[in-house]
Amino acid sequence: MAPAITDGFHLVVDALKLNGLDTIYGVAGIPITDLARLAQAEGMRYFGFRHEQSAGYAAAIAGYLTRKPGICLTVSAPGFLNGMVALANATTNGFPMIQISGSSDRAIVDLQQGDYEELDQMNAAKPYAKAAFRVNRAEDIGIGIARAIRAALSGRPGGVYLDLTADVLAATIDSRAASESLVQVVDPAPPRIPSPESIERALKLLAAAERPLIILGKGAAYAQADSDLRAWIETTGIPYLPMSMAKGLLPDDHPQSAAAARSFALSQADVVMLIGARLNWLLAHGKGSQWNERVRFVQIDIEPTEMDSNRPIAAPIVADIGSAMRCLLDAARPGRIKPNREWLEQIASRKRQNIERMQARLSANPDPMNFYSALRAIRDVLAGRPDIYVVNEGANTLDFGRNIIDMYEPRKRLDSGTWGVMGIGMGYAIGAATASGKPVVAIEGDSAFGFSGMEIETICRYGLPIVVAVFNNGGIYRGDDANRSGGSEPSPTTLMKNARYDKLIEAFGGAGYHASDTESLGKALTDALASGRPALINCVIDPTAGTESGHIQNLNPKSSLSDSKQRGDAG
Ligand code: ADP
Ligand code: MG
Repeated sequence: MAPAITDGFHLVVDALKLNGLDTIYGVAGIPITDLARLAQAEGMRYFGFRHEQSAGYAAAIAGYLTRKPGICLTVSAPGFLNGMVALANATTNGFPMIQISGSSDRAIVDLQQGDYEELDQMNAAKPYAKAAFRVNRAEDIGIGIARAIRAALSGRPGGVYLDLTADVLAATIDSRAASESLVQVVDPAPPRIPSPESIERALKLLAAAERPLIILGKGAAYAQADSDLRAWIETTGIPYLPMSMAKGLLPDDHPQSAAAARSFALSQADVVMLIGARLNWLLAHGKGSQWNERVRFVQIDIEPTEMDSNRPIAAPIVADIGSAMRCLLDAARPGRIKPNREWLEQIASRKRQNIERMQARLSANPDPMNFYSALRAIRDVLAGRPDIYVVNEGANTLDFGRNIIDMYEPRKRLDSGTWGVMGIGMGYAIGAATASGKPVVAIEGDSAFGFSGMEIETICRYGLPIVVAVFNNGGIYRGDDANRSGGSEPSPTTLMKNARYDKLIEAFGGAGYHASDTESLGKALTDALASGRPALINCVIDPTAGTESGHIQNLNPKSSLSDSKQRGDAG
């Protein structure tokens, strides 16, 4: 009797399932169409997108939420490259993801003989991925997927590229040899236990501090050590600042949150304890006018080379956050760490002042709406629904959204992240909805929405409980910029002010709402969430609201020449 045989397609699906990976986000086409079909036939979930970038973002955020690598499946060359932005974004943010791409005939690709969708994909992926592998023999599929899983999850998580040639997918292999070639990865994200010395060094520094401050980053959120983290903050009494995706690790109305006194706290703290947060641009690299010149740092990070990356770290703790928190809690004698009472009072009084000022802005009801009033309407609805995921991108929509929308549960806020990338909106929303089964509200600038807007067809096709609120101020940053030549073509930052984004979703059977005031916005959001169905709310925002580049104007270089000089001859 001839031996039973299987092929590369089946082996890939078997290898993924063996490792508990049950969902694929992708775009079908040559040479992976049958892989997608087979995965679905074998009980995996397959979500088909309209663009690989969004599929990749969905996979990345699913990885962040589940601590299993999110799988993105792409076709060769152009599809592969479309997915690469999402893979690079995953690597930059530390989200575990594997992009699996089919690729064309290596013999032709390597001699550059002009194959269909010809590209040396593995080498193209390397600079953007935590690791990149290519499988050249069907019997290596099991090992290839095992290596990809381990690379994505261990240490600082990241994006991994796995190249599967068309030949390998189609190759047949003896069934017994095939099943023996599969690998079930044991302990893919081993804990990293901190040295006792590093714990003692950190405790000493914190005990000597007068004005200590904790900064929580999304690494702390990813670690899912929520109760130990909270215990650490509450037993030490140290005030804390959440980075945007760490909001909700402790509820934003926690008395120790210094978020409403952020600038004050950063400028005065004498010891800052970074927990899963990097001293990158989002924290002004730990120096400059925002910071106390003599601040010293404790940093907990799983990645040893993160230490001293921007500022000297006086007390590095190289460890996973769960293990580090347990060691710190065990080692800290009660009362050893005690922030100055005056420090806590100063923060509390700053908070009161700033909250009052914010309250005044939030309670205004301008016509048309501005960012404050529209976000207040959304905030009021979401306050009763802490289970809802919030996706947020844009410039002003992002900056104001981060400050105005309070979060009460861990890992519920998903936003542009470390790269400040625009276009994550629909991908993250779909990834969060499919990975959690929970509703999602995506608060989108009108420009940001445009990068992934076609995925509302995907949302409607799968009937996902996603409500998209498009903050329509008719432009990038603002909607009132003029063409400086005096000509009639729109300015570089102008979008269509009277666009009816709500009509887009109606084309796919979703519910469209047009909200020109806070009352209709609040009602639209309430109704849409109650329906549990796809919806899009076109929120009419004052085109003169918003500032160029939002809160990061300092990063936007400006021409020092006058307008007339810029116009040159035309002036
Ligand atoms: P944020 O943007 O919120 O400040 P970052 O992405 O800059 O957060 O930093 C997250 C940090 O957390 C990264 O340096 C990463 O290495 C680290 N990290 C991720 N997961 C863990 C973990 N389980 N334990 C410890 N550190 C982690
Ligand atoms: Mg806009």
